[in-house]
Amino acid sequence: MKRFDFAPMPTADGYFGDYGGQIVPPELKQIMDDIDRAYEEIRQQPEFQAELAMLHADYVGRPSPVYLARRLSEQLGGARIYLKREDLNHTGAHKINHCLGEALLAKYMGKTKVLAETGAGQHGVALATACALVGIPCEIHMGQVDIEKEHPNVTKMKILGCKVVSVTRGTATLKDAVDSAFEEYLKDPVNSIYAIGSVVGPHPFPKMVRDFQSIIGREAREQFLAKTGTLPDIITACVGGGSNAMGLFTAFLDDEDVRIVGVEPAGKGLDTPDHAATLSKGRPGQLHGMKCYVLEDAAGEPLPVHSIASGLDYPGIGPQHSYLKDLGRVEYDTATDDECLDAYMTLSRVEGIIPALESAHAVAWAMRTAPTLGRDQSILINLSGRGDKDADYVAERLGL
Ligand SMILES: *Cc1c(COP(=O)(O)O)cnc(C)c1O
Repeated sequence: MKRFDFAPMPTADGYFGDYGGQIVPPELKQIMDDIDRAYEEIRQQPEFQAELAMLHADYVGRPSPVYLARRLSEQLGGARIYLKREDLNHTGAHKINHCLGEALLAKYMGKTKVLAETGAGQHGVALATACALVGIPCEIHMGQVDIEKEHPNVTKMKILGCKVVSVTRGTATLKDAVDSAFEEYLKDPVNSIYAIGSVVGPHPFPKMVRDFQSIIGREAREQFLAKTGTLPDIITACVGGGSNAMGLFTAFLDDEDVRIVGVEPAGKGLDTPDHAATLSKGRPGQLHGMKCYVLEDAAGEPLPVHSIASGLDYPGIGPQHSYLKDLGRVEYDTATDDECLDAYMTLSRVEGIIPALESAHAVAWAMRTAPTLGRDQSILINLSGRGDKDADYVAERLGL
């Protein structure tokens, strides 16, 4: 494989090849540049590094283990399957990694309010947690429809001291929550900060969220080497906006012999409108302040998308993934809702690990691929989160 020099990505103005950038009104460009400058300052500081390392160890519970799923590997009869256990983090998923970083940055910049939207509530809970820890007020906008569906997460956010704003406009779901939170942000972008929940949005967020998540791959690479003496043959992760995937992939991009696979949600099938497979079926466009692949209609409006996993339900994708696809360094494949449900149940019953429906997409891909490989080969899956949140839904859907 051709060698690429990945280290300098993105460029100073936030481009990964043709993707990324800052497609924002002029008054916000200044603010985004201030955030970038503060981030570049803080990341160099030994005190910040020490604070983050302490919180990783004593608060989040890092390093999360790399676990050899022996029974699953035997049952599939091919490659050995390993899991990077981000499900064991405090709050149950990888999102805490970048929420801590964003909350610490907000504090450093003297911001007095952290704003965000949430769909199913996972980003909201992780951010409310980080803001409680750092001691900074947090306001989360959430569609009324999602509030009714995801009640436990709404309750948790309130307990954590976060203000939850119910959004009733439009379809009262994620897109409306984004619009509402963004309007609130524009009222006072100097004193507030919009904490984006994945490697998406205008520069510097795709870079910053990736950097905060890249602890996953740095740990996993070292742990895998220590355990086996080699690197995995394949690494894989589910892709919504793409933060847990970039978190794992970044440390392996220069390892030419490691095959890297991102798994998008094929929903009810790629030949139906009900999927969210942005890189597989979309085209280059613009969304939420960045250039990236987008699932859009002929008029350039983002399409309604579907996945059984609400965390993967996004018509765009991070700019770095868009670039890595074009370069061919990362392959993007898909798993359907049904394959994902099967993986959810299989991992639960064969290993006693209930995965998030999001993470189950990567498990499904590995279950499909492992039997085609030899026993001397290995697949490392990023298990991005735990699946308690999905248990009632799965039980109802499968009639358990
Ligand atoms: C939010 C979420 C995802 C999807 O987000 P990415 O930015 O694509 O990682 C995946 N897994 C879990 C458990 C999540 O909560």
